[in-house]
Amino acid sequence: LSDKLDKALHVLKGHGSITEVNVAETLKEVRRALLDADVNFKIAKDFTNTVKEKALGQNVLTTLQPGQLMVKLVKDELTQLMGGETAGMNLSGNPSVILMSGLQGSGKTTFSGKLANYLKTKKTKKPLLVACDVYRPAAINQLHVVGDQVGVEVYSEEGNMNPVEIAQNAIAHAKKNGHNVVIVDTAGRLAVDEEMMTEIANVHKAINPQETLFVVDAMTGQDAVNTAKAFNDRLNFEGVILTKLDGDTRGGAAISIKSVVDKPIKFIGTGEKMDAIDVFHPSRMADRILGMGDVVSLVERAQEQFDEEEARKLQKKIAKNQFGFDDFLKQIQQVKKMGSMKDLVGMIPGAGKALKNVDIDDDAFKGIEAIIHSMTPAERSTPGIINGSRKKRIAKGSGTEVQQVNQLLKQFDQMSKMMKMMQGGGGRKMMQAMNK
Ligand code: GDP
Ligand code: MG
Repeated sequence: LSDKLDKALHVLKGHGSITEVNVAETLKEVRRALLDADVNFKIAKDFTNTVKEKALGQNVLTTLQPGQLMVKLVKDELTQLMGGETAGMNLSGNPSVILMSGLQGSGKTTFSGKLANYLKTKKTKKPLLVACDVYRPAAINQLHVVGDQVGVEVYSEEGNMNPVEIAQNAIAHAKKNGHNVVIVDTAGRLAVDEEMMTEIANVHKAINPQETLFVVDAMTGQDAVNTAKAFNDRLNFEGVILTKLDGDTRGGAAISIKSVVDKPIKFIGTGEKMDAIDVFHPSRMADRILGMGDVVSLVERAQEQFDEEEARKLQKKIAKNQFGFDDFLKQIQQVKKMGSMKDLVGMIPGAGKALKNVDIDDDAFKGIEAIIHSMTPAERSTPGIINGSRKKRIAKGSGTEVQQVNQLLKQFDQMSKMMKMMQGGGGRKMMQAMNK
């Protein structure tokens, strides 16, 4: 029993108070945060179900700081969902060939420049950029501008409309000139279409790249998933580049895409400038996504069902002998919010003993609540004034018998005494008594 008492005290101190009910409620909030961040509905639902199972499996409820543990669980699971570890790039070829794929406007050309710059400065490579977007002269130009900005050579062929040939020639050029990385920028269209798919599939087949990267605009949210799937079905790409994650883009696409195509996200783009590139870190993205719904504070709020303020007020009242039926009612309501009566009745200070002879089922407090509701405010705060005629009135009002009212008054009296004892430093004495 002293175990239970410890628990009760912890609860009153605001330490441990996440219950099965508010695990569920917390996860509902987590789910909302995920949906807000543009995560696919089914994925969000599966995710919260997994976390719930883990939370209950790990006995989150019995740990001292369930709130923190919940946050950690949610974060870890989210991190796993996005691949867990940071994924590297295979640059073992000579030259290593990297093929960019994705819709028009997704950020392929910009990212090609960023990646060339990144490899050049961070990995001391000698990259070559290749312009295979042959339909728009402006596209070739754009790559030249980008190449100039980062000081990387750009290979292009004027008048040649065959991207397969250009890519092959570029690789030959790279070999001859000591470029150990070849980054092939390709054409995209505004939507997935057969012609584009065939073209990039042909290039893919001809140059057999070490890394085929699928570039996707994070702001496209749900659409990103379908596009990713269409490209992956044709190219079986190695990784995903999530662009335009600057500003307040929410990043839920990272979860959805990873779940659907099961390919790692390798880099993110965070701006238009050439240095706005970051290696993708699943745990940082988890923070970002969770930060959107401020799940941490939601979890904390859930934990505050017995908050410290409330507990202090209660202690004062007990100390001053002012603990009345209204407070008792509040306690009952809090306990009810927390789940099963049987498990929780021991958490009310003194109640474990006082209600020992009452067969506690989940309806057990119904009669008690009805009786308290039938009391006047004066009777609730000063139960001593409840005489015979008041008892009759209360019983009638609550649909109970005078005997039940008597029983409750007796239990309440016992409980008040015990709580008083506990407050007055008699805790040890009481625990001894209880353990007998
Ligand atoms: P492509 O058609 O796939 O080659 O896409 P582009 O590289 O031409 O990019 C399309 C537009 O998106 C351009 O205006 C870029 O400046 C912009 N862009 C690309 N990446 C990012 C990014 O990470 N953040 C922001 N804010 N804009 C980007
Ligand atoms: Mg382009």
